[in-house]
Amino acid sequence: MTYRGRFAPSPTGQLHFGSLVAALGSWLCAHHAGGQWLLRMEDIDPPREVPGAAAAILAALPRFGLLADAPVLWQSQRIAAYDAAFAQLRAADQVFPCWCSRSELAAADGMHRDGRCVAAADPSRPPAWRLRTPAVTLHFDDALQGPQRQELRQSAGDFVIRRVEGLYSYQLACAVDDAHQGITEVVRGSDLLDSTPRQIWLQRLLGLPTPAYRHLPLVLDAQGCKLSKSTQALPLDPADPLPALRRALAFLRQPAVPAATDAADLLAQALAHFEPALLPHCSGHSVV
Ligand code: GLU
Repeated sequence: MTYRGRFAPSPTGQLHFGSLVAALGSWLCAHHAGGQWLLRMEDIDPPREVPGAAAAILAALPRFGLLADAPVLWQSQRIAAYDAAFAQLRAADQVFPCWCSRSELAAADGMHRDGRCVAAADPSRPPAWRLRTPAVTLHFDDALQGPQRQELRQSAGDFVIRRVEGLYSYQLACAVDDAHQGITEVVRGSDLLDSTPRQIWLQRLLGLPTPAYRHLPLVLDAQGCKLSKSTQALPLDPADPLPALRRALAFLRQPAVPAATDAADLLAQALAHFEPALLPHCSGHSVV
């Protein structure tokens, strides 16, 4: 089976150093395995999106030498596929409508469990749809973070699949699209480590394959906080890509590339010396 990896940014801000690390890490793993590297724009949450961010991310990646091997998959154009997955879950009685508000759930430790709603059904307004989550323990072996286990009912409860506004959840869209794109290994930041069991559970319910997982340590700022697009931490300069690429390579514990003519040259050299065994294991590292 051909290796297929991906980078799946949400257009909530410009590309930042943390997302460059995820993009570069997944690109190196895919090309090292002789496989393909795909791009997916996770634009299914309009309230969180920043106008122009998707275009800015897609313009920046090639400046860093990161070229996808297929046209970008836009999640906003995949609603029919999510509708079909939702219909499949509904037909199997795996989902239920829920009118509980966040504040009502706060009284029940914030988590919805056992299909038990605190709010009464209110047919006058649209519900959210939640998955009926059983007491099941999911295991997976992360290539960097080691063996993982999560008791799904305890940790995730009856998680939301479709929101009140009719928007599908990241978990559902991710599970459907990793399968649609034929992804064999997911390389991403470890902030998503605890989402993985929910995605694996959805894959099982929907009869989809489970890829391998490799969660990179999070890039932290000097205060030990996660770099995030929303805080505008460490913006990148696509006009001067080499310094950021070198820092990203160093973060990934890969051999330095002291002399490079441009981003493509630096990536070619980095790939020639790429050593997956050197990738960092622990859960967070400061960059600065
Ligand atoms: N869209 C998510 C983000 O930007 C990443 C999703 C994933 O890699 O599964 O944080």
